[in-house]
Amino acid sequence: MSRKIAIYPGSFDPLTNGHVDLIDRVSKLSVFDELIVAIGINPTKPPRFSLEERIEMLEAVTQPYPHVTIDQYSGLTAQYAQEHGGAAIIRGLREFSDFEYEFQTALMNRQIAPQVDTLFMMPNIRYAHLSSTLVVQVAEMGGGSISDEKLLEMVPPVVVKMLRKKYGSSES
Ligand code: ADP
Repeated sequence: MSRKIAIYPGSFDPLTNGHVDLIDRVSKLSVFDELIVAIGINPTKPPRFSLEERIEMLEAVTQPYPHVTIDQYSGLTAQYAQEHGGAAIIRGLREFSDFEYEFQTALMNRQIAPQVDTLFMMPNIRYAHLSSTLVVQVAEMGGGSISDEKLLEMVPPVVVKMLRKKYGSSES
């Protein structure tokens, strides 16, 4: 039987606990033999964290998951998934506001790559409001006054370090 591969695409700019929660949930499903977390490169949208930094974040948190690999791609997600033998694209649904865009994208992806399905997963309610943009706003505007404990509610330790480096530390 062929290996079942899931693709989890995203910007991960930066990685949050919501992303990690999804990776953990997909892993526990035991449906897939392999999960490829694929960093999408969008040439029209300069990232806050470099590709290397985002790979470093993902590698640090996915160490306990032997079946997870990290990759990068540019172009269409559906094409990438098809080329890599993906049976499913994993997407997260946080709030209602995610739904319309995700629904349209999933149907478009199906048109492009009919063999690849989209699997939606909901995070733990603790992370349902969390986005990379919000995290950066908090780190940037909160600067020194926001504690590591607060940031750790939002992002993994490796990302706290990188946020501090970029936007200032509690000591500065
Ligand atoms: P994109 O630009 O592709 O939306 P993101 O890195 O923002 O990239 O998100 C990647 C995927 O992870 C998306 O499916 C998004 O819905 C999901 N995601 C982002 N944040 C969360 C969260 N807090 N909980 C669950 N899923 C999330």
